[in-house]
Amino acid sequence: MAFHRSSVLLRKAISRRTAALSSSYNYSLRDSSNCSDLGRWYSSSGSESKEGGTTTMPAAGYHVGGGPSYMRGAVFWEKNKPLTFEDFQMPRPKANEVLIKTKACGVCHSDLHVMKGELPFASPCVVGHEITGEVVEHGPHTDSKTIERFAVGSQVVGAFIMPCGSCFYCSKGQDDLCEPFFAYNRAKGTLYDGETRLFLRNSGKPVYMYSMGGLAEYCVVPANGLTILPKSLPYTESAILGCAVFTAYGAMAHAAEVRPGDAVAVIGIGGVGSSCLQIARAFGASEIIAVDVQDEKLQKAKIFGATHAINALKEDAVAKIREITGGRGVDVAVEALGRPQTFSQCVQSVRDGGKAVMIGLTLSGAKGEIDINHLVRRQIKVIGSYGGRARQDLPKLVKLAERGIFNLEAAVSRKVKFEEVGQAYKDLDDGNIVGRAVVEIM
Ligand SMILES: [Zn+2]
Ligand SMILES: [Zn+2]
Repeated sequence: MAFHRSSVLLRKAISRRTAALSSSYNYSLRDSSNCSDLGRWYSSSGSESKEGGTTTMPAAGYHVGGGPSYMRGAVFWEKNKPLTFEDFQMPRPKANEVLIKTKACGVCHSDLHVMKGELPFASPCVVGHEITGEVVEHGPHTDSKTIERFAVGSQVVGAFIMPCGSCFYCSKGQDDLCEPFFAYNRAKGTLYDGETRLFLRNSGKPVYMYSMGGLAEYCVVPANGLTILPKSLPYTESAILGCAVFTAYGAMAHAAEVRPGDAVAVIGIGGVGSSCLQIARAFGASEIIAVDVQDEKLQKAKIFGATHAINALKEDAVAKIREITGGRGVDVAVEALGRPQTFSQCVQSVRDGGKAVMIGLTLSGAKGEIDINHLVRRQIKVIGSYGGRARQDLPKLVKLAERGIFNLEAAVSRKVKFEEVGQAYKDLDDGNIVGRAVVEIM
């Protein structure tokens, strides 16, 4: 019964979509043949022929509701080599997965870590894990509730941690520890059946997915990683809800459990760090101390709620934090940079019994040092936090943004055309993006 109902809904949805697609998908995807350089940062250009894999998919047309049978995506081939644009077969969602027409994708440091070879990841792959988009289609055998909830044509935002919804951790509500997400997506670049949804158009060779592989015109997202984006929120700015804001929220709500009146220090005021400031303000923190080495970022930190700003190049950040808090240290310190030195600063900045929360990813295998006796005697809590919990947190973040409690417009400092994505990552690497850049894919 349920299956019959979902098929009917799907058929209706597809026929509605067909009408819309026939008018809106006339732009020339076909012109983006093979590859073109994505940015000045990377000089040479990759191509399909680099691939030595043997797996192929039938190139025969899978069309999206009468629309195109292929799409364009930005491919990362290997460390320090240029991203290139490639044509892909149209990705096919499977059960309880949603095909999204990608509207926007944030430019995040985690992608950069992959592109610089600092975080090992399967390649070639499509990075980009902070997306908004429009629902185009559901996988076969998707349950009817999911199809109703994410009706074709609805606006959605996707979290970078896409929970399976049924593993040991997901069943406890700890979506941020989802076993298949780490075992398949982060370890193998696939979704949870062990397969990617991305195949090059001509050769049919597989391309792996960092989260949903957001730097492409379409992406497949497990439905548990999505929430509806109200029409009142813009596609571009809202993309950051899926990683920068999501990561900040996870750190503040679940790891730090920030309470009204807490003193909070945030070390590293990039996209995630500045979101931490806004979430700390939303949670009622009384002192919000921003620490960075760029005055421009510290200036902007005040817009996001910082009550104090410390330039760690000019001042001893730990001493200054203690001075601001009457010698005691902060209730919560957050490290959003991913460096051993700031890891130590974070631990040293908290009061006795305080929480030092680590959210900055770093070089694979990097270690941080802790004074064990201080940790034991002063009951310091050192807590790692990777992200938020998609099913419970993402809808809340949307509400915070809708009410203006979280200011998305101020957080997004640059909008980038899809063709300029290579340059955007170069600028991020050079520290030239204050806040967050978002790629408009449309
Ligand atoms: Zn990210
Ligand atoms: Zn799970």
